[in-house]
Amino acid sequence: MKVLVFIEQRENKLKKASLEALSTARKLAGSAANVAAVVVGGSIDGITAELKNHGADTVFAVSGATFENYNIFNYSSAVEQAIKSFSPTVVLGMATPMGRDVFPRLAARHNAGIATDLIELKAEGETLVGLKPMYSGKAYAEVTFQNSSIQFATLRPNVFKADASDGAANVSKLEVAAADSKLKTVEIRKDKSEKVDLTEATIIISGGRSLGSADAFKILNEAADVIGATVGASRAAVDAGYASHEMQVGQTGKTVNPNLYIAAGISGSIQHMAGMRTSKVIVAINTDPEAPIFKIANYGIVADLFQAVPLLTQKLKELRG
Ligand SMILES: Cc1cc2nc3c(=O)[nH]c(=O)nc-3n(C[C@H](O)[C@H](O)[C@H](O)COP(=O)(O)OP(=O)(O)OC[C@H]3O[C@@H](n4cnc5c(N)ncnc54)[C@H](O)[C@@H]3O)c2cc1C
Repeated sequence: MKVLVFIEQRENKLKKASLEALSTARKLAGSAANVAAVVVGGSIDGITAELKNHGADTVFAVSGATFENYNIFNYSSAVEQAIKSFSPTVVLGMATPMGRDVFPRLAARHNAGIATDLIELKAEGETLVGLKPMYSGKAYAEVTFQNSSIQFATLRPNVFKADASDGAANVSKLEVAAADSKLKTVEIRKDKSEKVDLTEATIIISGGRSLGSADAFKILNEAADVIGATVGASRAAVDAGYASHEMQVGQTGKTVNPNLYIAAGISGSIQHMAGMRTSKVIVAINTDPEAPIFKIANYGIVADLFQAVPLLTQKLKELRG
């Protein structure tokens, strides 16, 4: 099968999750010759060079001032052009905010099927079969395609391995005109934090309502600095003004999938767990031994977080020398 992968960038820097899609595409396609990537952005030469040996023989590059800032109309036209050039049977991307915007539009334009936020993916002949968490992670659905000449799918970040090692990544520049857009991106306001985005973080330490103040999040920041973690929060902590909305993990926040998730003073509501239950290792710190978070935790610490977290930070500092 021929697979086209939409590679995401922010400020002309490659989003590492896209390499997971590229490696998955390489496995589905059987050879790098059957895999192409499409990169869209203002100045993307660095990214196209980085894609060498990541699973694709061809990289379609759509660049220039028109594509500097993300605009759904321009970006989907660019991917559309790559689809025309490569004629793939599958178009893969990531279940990121950008992927969630671009892929449904492309699928609608092609009158094609779409499977989103997959955590497993295989090919049965020329047809994709994927696994998708449903109902806040309480159930899983096997999804497949029927009567779809082209199959669109997005993958949950941090689930699939980025381990392809071949792919010539020969660059083919595509000239794409600005779309007849009803939308103009005037300015992009960046989050001030220099920390790794929660959706890409490999270690997360999150705090809940029990922190009691924004100031108390300092103890989580200190622990995070020692282990290179990103700090997250429950919605209760966000609603109380202790943490900003971009830190919210859960059904109405971000879906994360780190190697290690430390939940400090978080009860483990269905809505919180919907965003983090697929984390590889979960550590919960809670004073209540009956807290639901312990049901999914690999390691549970029944303790006051104001004592346990600083102690953990201290021990981790010692371990790290
Ligand atoms: C439609 C909808 C969407 C929602 N979306 C989200 C979402 O995206 N994300 C989200 O998180 N929630 C979401 N919620 C809210 C969710 O239902 C919970 O209210 C929320 O997750 C609770 O946050 P919490 O665990 O911080 O607070 P609580 O439930 O109040 O839990 C606090 C925990 O801290 C423990 N504790 C208290 N003191 C200490 C201490 N000193 N040391 C250690 N432990 C201590 C307590 O035992 C308790 O378990 C949503 C709700 C709805 C209805």
